[in-house]
Amino acid sequence: MQTLPLIQHLINGKLVAGGSRSQDVFNPATGQAEKQLLLADKATVEQAIACAQAAYPAWRATPPLKRARVMSKLKNLLEDNAEAICALVTAEHGKVLSDSMGELQRGIENVEYASYAPELLKGEHSKNVGPSMDSWSEFQALGVTAGITPFNFPVMVPLWMWPMAVTCGNTFVLKPSERDPSSALLVAQLALQAGLPPGVLNVVHGDKEAVDTLLADKRVQAISFVGSTPIAEYIYATGCANGKRVQALGGAKNHAVVMPDADVPNAVSALMGAAYGSCGERCMAIPLVVAVGDATADAVVAGLKVEIAKMKVGPGIDAGNDMGPLVTQAHFDKVKGFVDQGVAEGATLVVDGRGVKVLGHEAGYFLGACLFDHVKPGMKIYQEEIFGPVLGVMRVKTLQEAMSLIDAHEYGNGTCIFTRDGEAARYFSDNILVGMVGVNVPLPVPVAYHSFGGWKRSLFGDLSAYGPDAVRFYTKRKTITQRWPSAGVREGAVFSFPTNR
Ligand code: NAD
Repeated sequence: MQTLPLIQHLINGKLVAGGSRSQDVFNPATGQAEKQLLLADKATVEQAIACAQAAYPAWRATPPLKRARVMSKLKNLLEDNAEAICALVTAEHGKVLSDSMGELQRGIENVEYASYAPELLKGEHSKNVGPSMDSWSEFQALGVTAGITPFNFPVMVPLWMWPMAVTCGNTFVLKPSERDPSSALLVAQLALQAGLPPGVLNVVHGDKEAVDTLLADKRVQAISFVGSTPIAEYIYATGCANGKRVQALGGAKNHAVVMPDADVPNAVSALMGAAYGSCGERCMAIPLVVAVGDATADAVVAGLKVEIAKMKVGPGIDAGNDMGPLVTQAHFDKVKGFVDQGVAEGATLVVDGRGVKVLGHEAGYFLGACLFDHVKPGMKIYQEEIFGPVLGVMRVKTLQEAMSLIDAHEYGNGTCIFTRDGEAARYFSDNILVGMVGVNVPLPVPVAYHSFGGWKRSLFGDLSAYGPDAVRFYTKRKTITQRWPSAGVREGAVFSFPTNR
């Protein structure tokens, strides 16, 4: 039997084994196991935490500008190695190469933003807050921090987390998704090459055992999580109960409202990418269109049908393809099950992608684009996150009706409105109960110098991911008040509360 290449942990700057369990990593385009991943046990994760703890004092004392220079070098290395990184993403996740490149570029922009950390960490200063008295607030590192990331952005989401964490002076333990772990590992190795000292960033692969060890260990001060809502809620509750700072980003079900005055052909083009890009495996994907008026709905459905017929489904490494496979057989079965359920629930399946076969890749996890019309709020395909190439169209009479639907949904990650009416767009973005809103922008994913976060059950915690919120998440405010009274002046005791009166 052929032995598969083994993916190891990166602890204290070295690739190491650890844990007696392992699992296969598949290429979703072929359905073949191509690598074996070691799953860290408690002792391995504790070893990574110990190394991060040991590296912390010297790294915290390193001037922020020197820490930031590592990020500038890393940015160059990521650009130089983009092809190799994206080949790993496509081989393990399945998304088309151009999409892997887009994901990496967004990740690089987070590294670039982290390289401004000296500016972001400057603090606040006030002179003469009292007689001969000055006061300032500074933002100090927390210590060992950790990140747990999902499969769908294997290279970008880790880059939302650790570059800013370490540039703020923390050390880090990353636990990437066990389904597509190689790109995050390669990026961590490039960070070492860029000059990050051993132990500042450690990567442990694993599952619940690894995550639970991070959650329980007293040395871990803060945890960033991105993944599904049930796990996000568990991470938030357990991490907080163990005294940690936690931000846990969860699932989504993003609605796009199409108004009667919208530019429908352009809206249709935008919806195609937002619904079927990355096979719908994006937390900012659009799986629902809420069309205002039957004429709008008819035009959108007709337009989508035409565009879907032109889509090319196949392996992500072939540049001609628009959409690759789903990530695993289990996820394929789940998504297909949702399509079966939508039919059983009475939605109209306008385009059925269940029969798609890709020649030469019969064992790959390919599902063609699916389009439902007449989706209703009571249906499971409306309520639950499908995370696949399945778009549902709903029909409402007014913008208010569309907004009531969106506000009542358990998730509040992203939404968008297609319209030419500025007043409607302003009313929508002002009042909708969702964290990230697009106006004629289908995927309103904030740029690296804004922060990313949903509302309702799409985010547990107070601070969003990356951008300015990340600086606050990975630091503690300390406020120092300092006085230098004139030498030789004798001062009596004061028993009243000090004021400036
Ligand atoms: P997931 O929740 O299954 O896994 C995420 C991480 O949690 C992985 O590292 C995994 O190993 C770990 N994990 C899984 N089960 C666990 C358990 N029982 N105990 C402890 N740890 C566990 O998510 P996924 O399938 O990898 O990713 C897809 C999900 O992530 C979708 O719901 C998507 O919406 C969401 N997501 C959200 C955002 C956002 O910013 N809100 C971004 C990307 C993905």
